[in-house]
Amino acid sequence: MSNSQRLEGKTCIITGGSSGIGAATVRRFVEEGAEVLIADIALEAAEGLARGLGNTVSAIRCDVRLEDDVRRVADTALRRWGHVDVLVNNAGSELNRTYDQTTVEEWDRVLDTDLKGPWLFCKHVVPHMVKAGRGSVINISSLNGLVGFPLSTAYGSAKGGLVVFTKDLAIELAPSGVRVNCVCPGVIATPMMERWTDLMPDKGEAQKMLRGVMPIGRMGTAEEVAGAIFFFASDDSALCQGAVLSVDGGFVAQ
Ligand code: NAP
Repeated sequence: MSNSQRLEGKTCIITGGSSGIGAATVRRFVEEGAEVLIADIALEAAEGLARGLGNTVSAIRCDVRLEDDVRRVADTALRRWGHVDVLVNNAGSELNRTYDQTTVEEWDRVLDTDLKGPWLFCKHVVPHMVKAGRGSVINISSLNGLVGFPLSTAYGSAKGGLVVFTKDLAIELAPSGVRVNCVCPGVIATPMMERWTDLMPDKGEAQKMLRGVMPIGRMGTAEEVAGAIFFFASDDSALCQGAVLSVDGGFVAQ
């Protein structure tokens, strides 16, 4: 629990903020004094979270794959606040499938949610940040974007693409005062991870295997990832531009 109010007065859009890492980030940002707009396909859950956190948080339905939805979120935020300080591209969709069994629909769902969505949000929010000469974009990738795994060609391609997108945009925007950085979580206990273990023939074994993936010997928590996202939202990361921060209990250090 933090009450440092380091984001006081900051206006923030968090995509996929109704669940898991996104929800923990919404809570952390609100504790730190931010105003938050949750943009999520799961509107009821997002509204429920917002209601419980008070009047500095609200929710709006958005499918990050659709440009009209993204434009509506950007317009709503700008009408309300006049400026967006922080954009967290967190909404994500996973797939565990061999490359040859992946359907075109599955490939498009994952690439559109995990890569096109962040680009669309940048397209509609970042120009306003550039005009203001300030802003922080935080893209949520994955360790799947840094190293190879079996059954991960669609998800890994999207998350790897997001790492490079982060670096490219960071360089393009470097003189503007807008920062773009990326967080790569390891194995984190969230509903997404729960769905993955539900698909396994032996859920207990799958959970045990996941606990062993990270050198620290346990899964991470959504709050631990939210702490890294908060760092990039705060002025403490003022010199970070195109940084890719692994939050993975030592996985990519091996
Ligand atoms: P989560 O609990 O499933 O939350 C993801 C949220 O995004 C959900 O509210 C989901 O809504 C929403 N969403 C999905 N598709 C969307 C779309 N097209 N438009 C708008 N919202 C959409 O997942 P999480 O584990 O917190 O993951 C958050 C991010 O971290 C994702 O980008 C994920 O890839 C990344 N990540 C997670 C882990 C992990 O171990 N958990 C590891 C590395 C990276 P629905 O619930 O209705 O689908």
